[in-house]
Amino acid sequence: TQSLGKVYAEGSEAEVVALRDVDLRIGRGEFVAIMGPSGSGKSTLMNLLGCLDTPSSGTYWCDGVDVASLDAEGRARLRLDKIGFVFQGFNLLPRMDALENVAMPMGYANVHRDERLKRAHEALEAVGLGNRQHHRPSEMSGGQQQRVAIARALINRPPILLADEPTGALDSKTGEEILALFKRLQQDDHTVVLITHDPDVAHHCDRIFTMRDGLLTEEVRA
Ligand code: ATP
Ligand code: MG
Repeated sequence: TQSLGKVYAEGSEAEVVALRDVDLRIGRGEFVAIMGPSGSGKSTLMNLLGCLDTPSSGTYWCDGVDVASLDAEGRARLRLDKIGFVFQGFNLLPRMDALENVAMPMGYANVHRDERLKRAHEALEAVGLGNRQHHRPSEMSGGQQQRVAIARALINRPPILLADEPTGALDSKTGEEILALFKRLQQDDHTVVLITHDPDVAHHCDRIFTMRDGLLTEEVRA
């Protein structure tokens, strides 16, 4: 990104400058953490990186493509092909069970139904939820819902994984398992960016950035 900025409700009384001149370059295969206090702009930045929102200023290249040059359809395609996104609030569909939630992003990817369900089942197994396939989100704990959201983000095997507090609702053992899963992805040449409040989680990453009042700084490690 170059000089990326985001202003919510620009020009109105409710204007919020959430992101200021953020310059960030993340290379393929990197494992990066973003930390910082509540309201500092972490999710705002993540939503821009995930092409879920458009910046108020600045430029963002994803895999060499200037995202601003794409129309809505182009951005949707980029997201589908390249990006897995774990939402801070999970964003699971309440009327679907775990298996259907995980299989959902494949609906657009021209994968046959049997194959879709088989892959969704494998993805749930990978996050330790093979026995919760037919539970709806309301029938699962917060940590289980979070793991369904992670399985869903990975189902199309995207080269880039963006995860907003992916271990927030998990106990330390499950959190470590998810972290190990992310590390395996990285070894497979995936790029992983995660937001976390947990210094122990960030410690596993190659680089740590800290966000404060919309400004991003890289932590220099000893
Ligand atoms: P947390 O750790 O609590 O998740 P965060 O660092 O992710 O916080 P953001 O969600 O990026 O913070 O929010 C940054 C600022 O932008 C906050 O002051 C917030 O109130 C504001 N904000 C976020 N989303 C919107 C929106 N859709 N409209 C207006 N203001 C918003
Ligand atoms: Mg947030």
